[in-house]
Amino acid sequence: MSLHVVRPKILGFISEHVSAWLVALLVLLVGGTLTGLLAWSTQNLFQHQLRQRFQLLASERYSRIQERFEDQEQRLDGLRRFYSNSGEVSREEFDGYAKPLLHRTQAYSWAPRISRAGRAALEQAAHEEGLSEFSVLELDASGRLQIAAERDEYAPVLYTQTQSRLPTPLGFDLLGQPQRRATLERADALGGMAVSEPLYLVGIEPTYARAILLVAPVGHSLQPGAVPEGYVMAVISMRQLLADGLPEESHDFLSVRLLDLSTADQHEVLYESSNTPAVSELSSTQLIRLADHSYQVEMRPSVGFIKANPSSLSSLVALGGMLSLLLSALLYVLVSQRHRALKMVEQRTQELRAREQELRGTHGQLRGVLDAATQVAIIATDLRGVITTFNAGAEHMLGYTSAEVVGCMTLENLHLPRELLARSTELSARYGKSIPTCQAMLVEGGEKGGHEAREWTLVRSDGSYLAGNMLATPVLDEQGLWVGHLAICIDITERKRVHEALAARDLLLKKLSAHVPGGIYQFKMEFDGRFSVIYASDGIREIYELEPDVLLLNAEAIFTRIHPQDTTRVRASIRASADTLSPWREEYRVQLPIRGLRWVRGEATPEELPGGGVLWHGYISDISDLKRVEEELRALSVTDSLTGIHNRRYFQERLITEMARVERGGGELSVIMLDVDHFKRINDQHGHAVGDRVLQAVCERIGHRLRRTDVFCRLGGEEFMVLCPDINSEHAHVLALQLWQALRSSPIDGVGTVTASFGIASWRAGEGADALLLRADSGVYAAKQAGRDRVEAEMS
Ligand code: GH3
Ligand code: MG
Ligand code: MG
Repeated sequence: MSLHVVRPKILGFISEHVSAWLVALLVLLVGGTLTGLLAWSTQNLFQHQLRQRFQLLASERYSRIQERFEDQEQRLDGLRRFYSNSGEVSREEFDGYAKPLLHRTQAYSWAPRISRAGRAALEQAAHEEGLSEFSVLELDASGRLQIAAERDEYAPVLYTQTQSRLPTPLGFDLLGQPQRRATLERADALGGMAVSEPLYLVGIEPTYARAILLVAPVGHSLQPGAVPEGYVMAVISMRQLLADGLPEESHDFLSVRLLDLSTADQHEVLYESSNTPAVSELSSTQLIRLADHSYQVEMRPSVGFIKANPSSLSSLVALGGMLSLLLSALLYVLVSQRHRALKMVEQRTQELRAREQELRGTHGQLRGVLDAATQVAIIATDLRGVITTFNAGAEHMLGYTSAEVVGCMTLENLHLPRELLARSTELSARYGKSIPTCQAMLVEGGEKGGHEAREWTLVRSDGSYLAGNMLATPVLDEQGLWVGHLAICIDITERKRVHEALAARDLLLKKLSAHVPGGIYQFKMEFDGRFSVIYASDGIREIYELEPDVLLLNAEAIFTRIHPQDTTRVRASIRASADTLSPWREEYRVQLPIRGLRWVRGEATPEELPGGGVLWHGYISDISDLKRVEEELRALSVTDSLTGIHNRRYFQERLITEMARVERGGGELSVIMLDVDHFKRINDQHGHAVGDRVLQAVCERIGHRLRRTDVFCRLGGEEFMVLCPDINSEHAHVLALQLWQALRSSPIDGVGTVTASFGIASWRAGEGADALLLRADSGVYAAKQAGRDRVEAEMS
């Protein structure tokens, strides 16, 4: 499996080695620059649009003001022409004409130009009209109207039509006030309309009192410089003229200022919007003419205008900045994530490569193991039981090739059908549900949940049968899911045959050993001296009264049965046999719980084991009966058949033993010899049989007087010997006298008193047995010679 390096398509244009911080910083810088450029161009556009909008508003407002100025001129000119064309105009006619004209004009007035002489007539005519209070008036120093002083000419206001509710200043002489007079004179000079400087007008509401007069001279043939008949005037409040009919100032987008330019040094502001002009570079200035006068109109955008045309710059910058920041953060996250992802991919790739390498190695090893296991059949199946792996061992064992089997055959096809059926029936009964034959070999056989190998008969490709020991286990994947089965099988045909042969031999051995008295065994001594029993036939049970199984576990149990006096000897002889590898043969006693003391004989042949230690094959039999016969024979061999006491052989054996004892360790030893007196005569007189009875009677009488330690023997004929260990010469003499007395004082039925002659000898240091016996014999001879029936004291 080859591993491809995964490269994310997104961000492909960014090198994998660039730091995420650098990318984020660059993006932030580019974003900031772009935002700046965009903001700059937007601001330019915005300023341009704002300027256009302002210019549009301003020019529209200029036009409107211009229109209003022209309108004022036209209306006043209409009134003038009305006068010119009418000749004489009455008050009613004036009112009728002027009243409809009062539109954005505070008042229209008519002031005839009269001479000093005409003053009285005028006042008179006015009085006649009903204006009783009418007189030509002028302003005093304090600004109050008073009767005008005498002058050459007057131009008193005669008619007036006003919007004001204040009393009309009729009679006010315009020529009596310098500024008004100057205006009239200028109108005269022009022969047309003239505008006064800003004035505080009389009879006008204070709000509009600062106003201008638009004056037009009235005459039939008016030439510049000619004296007119009178003047028609319009009282114009710039505030009214400019503000009325326009948007409420608080909502007005323009801040308007009207300046009077009539005075050169100080331009009076005639009108100024009450709304606040915005701080802006936008402004517009234009001159507007009214009659002979120029006014400067200044326009600036109001705060409302700026508010109504908000700049999107800050939101654009904020948006752009935020977008740059977001993009930068996004790229930082993406790039750093890509770094992490690439690092992880690299790490995982390395891990996977290592795993792949490991897997290859493992797979190779597994393949090697599978191929090398020629004596073991390894068969793997999928979940359906179809064979997926069939190793060399399986080919060798079952005769199929891997190609014939893999993907074509199931594990069931290799089994003997009747065996599977029997197992399936057994399992179905055990689990209480139907187990199909194809799964019978897979279901675990161990009662405790473990998987156990089980014997199956498999069918080879040629139809022959094969006994196999097969272990079938489920194969689980990494998630623990069941993906198939693995069956491992070994050919046990040969093993079974050997097993059967061994069993037959075991049976034979068992039968044979059952018919042999005693038991056979294998006994082993380890290199460290420990004993163990390898084999023990049933006969051993009777010999030691121990179960063979117990012996197999603990060989030392044997030594608990051996008689304490024989244990050391038996152990020593076993070791000697092991050391010299000579056959072991030993007779010893065993102390058994049921049968008591018994004699056994063991024989075994040793052989050295390769790893050290010795193995014996041997046989143990009970020889108690034989021992008893032996002892009986022995007793017979040392007993005198006539008298029942020990014979000469026994005497000689004991004498040798006792001699060896005293020679080795000192002590006493004496012998008493006796010979029946004239026994030949007894035989002759009473017959040989009576002679025999006499001999028996003599033994009885002597034997009764002896100690247990004394050994009484018949040397032959009518000669006897008493061997007395631990008795010195004097004691022996005393004993001999007791014996002599016992014999002679107790007559024998039918025969009478029988006597004997006694000789004594006590062992002397350095003396041999023959010398000792000779001295005893000499004693007897001396007693005979001395007349018989006596004890001859030991000769010194
Ligand atoms: P002395 O007082 O000198 O010993 O005389 P004696 O007759 O006892 O001695 P002698 O040695 O001459 O005779 C011994 C006899 O004992 C000879 C023999 O026939 C007899 N005799 C030996 N053995 C037996 C035996 O077993 N039974 C019987 N009845 N007689 C025996
Ligand atoms: Mg004799
Ligand atoms: Mg005798």
